This record gives sequence, structure tokens and C-alpha cells, in this order.
Amino acid sequence: MDTHNGSKSASVDSLKQAIVLGVERRAKLVQEIVDSLFSFAELGFQESESERYMTRILEDAGFSIRRQAAGIPTQWAARWGNGGPVISLNSDIDALSGLSQKPGVPRPEPLVEGAPGHGEGHNSGMAVAIVAALAAKDIMEREGLPGTLHLWPGIAEEQIASKSYVANSDVLDDVDVVLSMHVSNDFTVQGGEGESLGAASVEFTFHGKSAHAAGVPWLGRSALDAVELMNVGWNFKREHLHPRQRSHYVITNGGGQPNVVPDRASVWYYFRDSDAGNVRAMMDVAQDIAAGAALMTGTRFTSELLGVAWPHHYNLPLAQAVHRNMETVGMPDWSEEDLALAKALQSHMQVEQIGLRTVLPPLTPPLMGPTAGGSDDIGDVTWKVPTIRLRYPSNIPGAIGHHWSSAVSMATPIAHKGVSAAAKVAGMTIIDLLLKPDLLDSIRDYFVNVQTRDIKYAPIQSADAIPAIHLNGPAQAKYRPDLEKTYYDPARFETYLKQLGVDYPTI
Ligand SMILES: [Zn+2]
Repeated sequence: MDTHNGSKSASVDSLKQAIVLGVERRAKLVQEIVDSLFSFAELGFQESESERYMTRILEDAGFSIRRQAAGIPTQWAARWGNGGPVISLNSDIDALSGLSQKPGVPRPEPLVEGAPGHGEGHNSGMAVAIVAALAAKDIMEREGLPGTLHLWPGIAEEQIASKSYVANSDVLDDVDVVLSMHVSNDFTVQGGEGESLGAASVEFTFHGKSAHAAGVPWLGRSALDAVELMNVGWNFKREHLHPRQRSHYVITNGGGQPNVVPDRASVWYYFRDSDAGNVRAMMDVAQDIAAGAALMTGTRFTSELLGVAWPHHYNLPLAQAVHRNMETVGMPDWSEEDLALAKALQSHMQVEQIGLRTVLPPLTPPLMGPTAGGSDDIGDVTWKVPTIRLRYPSNIPGAIGHHWSSAVSMATPIAHKGVSAAAKVAGMTIIDLLLKPDLLDSIRDYFVNVQTRDIKYAPIQSADAIPAIHLNGPAQAKYRPDLEKTYYDPARFETYLKQLGVDYPTI
């Protein structure tokens, strides 16, 4: 028996125990970050208050901050440490429009009527990243461990609009591993292909000629006619799509009123396929169909790429290491109050009243050729750097995604406990990565010789594409003054629920 290995593994275990204590010591910080980000409720590309708040915490802790990375005003990255490995922590930060919701209340009740809200729970993941990094930094300093901690927020994920640009910028240049966090109602991690599709989000705008629709219609060239003909054309194309392809559209501008021939009309499409190369091919067909619609109507058209995402592929050895740490940490200890809120929401949603999950699932197996699923621009990152997604239980089973019901738990002890459990797992995984060179070797080997052996990453967008940073500006500006009045003030209130006068649990 090699005693050296024995003492080394004992020291890994004791350092992981120190991570657990370091996260538990920061329970108040977890609550403050989760509650504060919930109250800011910022849409994609508008995450300036969230940036100010998080970068101050990290700067105070000795991290250096880089701002306006990858051509995105709110894209920052924080860094601390020396040398390798460079371990990067990430999570989405943006809210959803119209989903303002009072936390802890198990029925629809907006905090600010019509305003954005965290109806998915993106207010929680950067709390995992920050608290895990602070706990790991303590230990790296104490033990003199080389390595670099790197943190960056996922901007405008709801528009799949930023991470492909980050992946193709210099932000991740020297990064060895990305641990990406995402809210869930369960505690899971996956290796291999995930249930997701590559996607492109494109808006087509037709430009015609306005005229009085009854008086001189022959002088008009209707942009709306072109939108409708493009949609007819695409819907005939739909018969010939492969079963693994999806597409959908909404008309974002159909003109002003019927008696005016619209000189401007727009339609917004999503094109999806489990093969990213085919997403580009779908976009090319759509361009031809748009050109045909323009020719038929005597209009012209422009198109704007609003977002892209590759399908996901997670690093298997890294996922296995994360899952071993999940087994050590286990599911959170839910209180009677937590379970009562969960069951009250489930009752309102008319789903089975199972409360909160208590059994840790096994490692999620890879999917073989996924044919369905949504899209998330972490996909591009997973093809640039070995990446996993750590999903943690801060939401309530039975809540609907992108819906007020998914905001209910997100500034309550349920979210705080899920975040703490995830921060322990992330922090313990950092210890593994710092002290186990074999693990880093197997992560790299999987990335080079399995994941990217046959499939080579090439971004869906062209080299001169730029992020659609104009998105959401007016929507945020409209509600920011009212939202500012409900920002969480931790100096005056122990929790956001107390500030809002919400009893816990409200059932
Ligand atoms: Zn998300």
C-alpha cells in the first residue's frame, strides 16, 4: 500500500470538509446574494445592477474584474489566483419579461405588475459560483495551492444571445474546466450528450411601401404580405424537415392598422437541429424563402441573427467527479415550512403533492442522439472547454418553467438550501481539480479523444456577427424605476421575505 497516496486522499477529504464548513459559514451571504439578484430582476443585456452587486463582492474578496468582455456591455469576468489549473464557474443571471412574482406566495401575485421576474430561477446560480469560489480561495491561500479561479455570468441566456460570443472570444482562452450551474428541482449532473438542440434565432424584416389600403392600394407594397408568404413557404418546407429538426415563429410586427398598407413587418424564427451544421443549412433555406417572398411582393428584406446555441455535450469524467461529491453532500434538509410551501404550490398547480425531492438520483446517463429538447447557449461552451452542468434543487417540483410558479421558491429557504448544497459540491470539485492531476488528464482525454474526435466545433454565427445587445433595453427602462423601490435592502431586513412582509410559509 502506498502510504503517500493514502495520506494524500486523507488530505483531499479534509480539505473538502473545510469547503463544507466554508460554505456553511457563508449561509448569510448565500441568502443575501440569492435575494438581492431576485429583486433586481434584470432582462438579458440589462444586467447592470446584478453586475455592480456581484463584482463588488468579488473585488472586496481580492478578485480582479474584467468588464465589457466579448463585445457585451454587461459581460464581466472575475479572476483570482496564480497558475493552473484555471477553473471557471458560470451561471445564467437574466430574468424573464412579465414574470414579476412575490416570492413565497404560492399563487400568481406580481411584485411589480408587468415587470420582469425570475420565473426560472437565474437569480441563484451565481450565488453557487461566488460562494464556492470564496470557500475554495480560503483553502488555496491557507495551503498555498496553485491554481486560478475564474467566474463569469451567463448574459441574456433567455435569448441564447451571449455565450457563443464568449466562447469565441478570449474570455475562456486559458480555462481548463467550466463548472456551469443551473437551477432545477433536483440535484443532477450528466456526462455525454444532453437533451438539447442546436438553435439559431433570426428575425426577418420586410420593407415595402405604404399606401391608403382602400384609396390607392395599387401604390402599396405590403411588408405583411411578404411575412405571410414567407411563413407559407416555410410551412411547405416543414414537410421535408428531418424529425430531429424543429422550427417555430411569431410575427413581431404585422403593421399598424388594416386601412394602411404596412411598409414594415417582421417575423422572428427559431431553427433547431441536434446537429449544429444543419442549423446553418436551415437558416440558408429560410433566407431563400424570404428572398422569394420579397420577390413576390415587390418588397425587400433584412435579417438579424439574435442568438445561437450548439447542442450540449458534457464532460463525462468531470460529471463523475461532481456526482461523487453530490453523494457526499446529499440532498438538503428540508424543513416542515419548506415542504408546506411546496405542497401549497403543487395544490394550486393541481399536480401531485410530493413536496420536495429527498433522494439523490444517480449520474444522468448520456443520451444517444437526442431528438428533442430546448436550447441553451452553454452548448457552445461545452464544445470549447470541458464543461458540466451542475443542476441543484432550488425550485419546486410541479412548477412550470418560464412561469410565475418557478419564481415562488426562488427567494425562500428552499432556494438558499439548494444553493448551499450546490456550492459545497462545486467547491469540493475545485479541490479535486487542484489536487488530482489524473482527473484533469482524464477530462482532457475525454474532450480530445471522445467528444471532439469526430465532431469539430465551428460557431453557427459568421465571424463578423455581433451580439444583439440592443435587446430588452426599452422593456427594462420601463420597469426599472418601480423595481428599484423593491430592491432587497439587507442592511434593514434579515431576508427579502421579511422586507416584503411575506409570512413563511404562506399557504
Ligand atoms: Zn436557464
